[in-house]
Amino acid sequence: MSGEGSRKRRGFATRAVHRPRIPEQDGEPIAPPLDLSSTYSFEDTGAFAKASEQRVGAGYVYTRWANPTVDAFEAAVADLEGAEDAEAFSSGMAAIWCTFLALTRPGDRIVAARQLYGNAYSLLSTRLTDFGVTTEFFDVGDHDGIADALDGAALLYCETIGNPRIVVADLAALGRMAQPAGVPLVVDNTFASPALCRPIEHGATLAVHSATKFLGGHHDLVGGIACGDPATIDRLRSVARDLGPTLAPFNAWLALRGVATLPLRVARSSASALEVARALASSAHVERVDYPGLPDDLSHALCRALLGGHGGGTIGFVVAGGRERAGRFQEALEVVLPAASLGGSHSLIVHAASITHTQLSPEELRAVGMDEGFCRLSIGLEDPEDLVADLSDALEATA
Ligand code: PLP
Repeated sequence: MSGEGSRKRRGFATRAVHRPRIPEQDGEPIAPPLDLSSTYSFEDTGAFAKASEQRVGAGYVYTRWANPTVDAFEAAVADLEGAEDAEAFSSGMAAIWCTFLALTRPGDRIVAARQLYGNAYSLLSTRLTDFGVTTEFFDVGDHDGIADALDGAALLYCETIGNPRIVVADLAALGRMAQPAGVPLVVDNTFASPALCRPIEHGATLAVHSATKFLGGHHDLVGGIACGDPATIDRLRSVARDLGPTLAPFNAWLALRGVATLPLRVARSSASALEVARALASSAHVERVDYPGLPDDLSHALCRALLGGHGGGTIGFVVAGGRERAGRFQEALEVVLPAASLGGSHSLIVHAASITHTQLSPEELRAVGMDEGFCRLSIGLEDPEDLVADLSDALEATA
């Protein structure tokens, strides 16, 4: 294509489609450009063919393969995670799924923590078996069991801060076991974010994320990302290109905007969460609080060792009075909203027994550490005193 001056005068419709090209100028944009193009043209057939080899840095051909805005997001998160490379996905589950597909073959066995996000747990315990891959689950603190199971395993999988008891994994110990066994350690770092913990520094091969949560931070995108060494990321990239769940450029752009304020948001949410957790722990209406930032929490020592003493933005707690009272309590809240996500600007609450785990009996709920009154609370960016007041008022109102 050439400038307007040298263009033949084409028909109106052709000119509507092939707009004049604006000459490039000096000046680096401060905000990242949003490149929504699904495809790219080349004047030089050789360059087109070279770019089509899909090697990183060879040029952009087609957005499912690579896109400048998505690349910018990948580079930003890889840098924060201390990784050399990253691949972004259409959701956190897509990142996790493609990781398992890329790193396992039929007949393989995964060793995984039992304390996992529900869909990751069901992916491992059911869907992956259709692909001939089995999973052995262990309590994330059962280091002896995990060490014994690692021999011959395809990968070790856990979350930095796991569901539902907001329990911190000893990543350094797991890394020390996985590395000599030649087993890649894959860590879902969603709850901590790289602002609190960088699993690769502790021996993980990959850090994966639901970018829907802290990385994006504003409840306006769904996305995922995996960070690691170029050879491993290449294997994920190849699966992603074949299957198609790569991140859309607009979501990458939103996520990139979120990343700029990640440290501030995580610091704020974590500090507010500590205030809220203290208030809940001192309430007669609350039976138990799970929050690694509290000194008597079962994960507090690891919180200090791994997360710089910051407990993160997520709290688990048990409302006295069981399922019925916890449901009424959730409805009585005015600032905290009942909604199923975390790590964003708004504080959100989920009462597990009535929303996410309705199939489980009271006994089954207790077996996985969720009493009937168990709620998961994600602390947002509101004034902490308003959050404490809202929770206290709702607890009083439903006593
Ligand atoms: N990992 C964790 C720890 C999560 O909490 C979630 C979603 O809540 C996911 C992964 C899945 O992410 P997404 O909803 O973006 O697929």
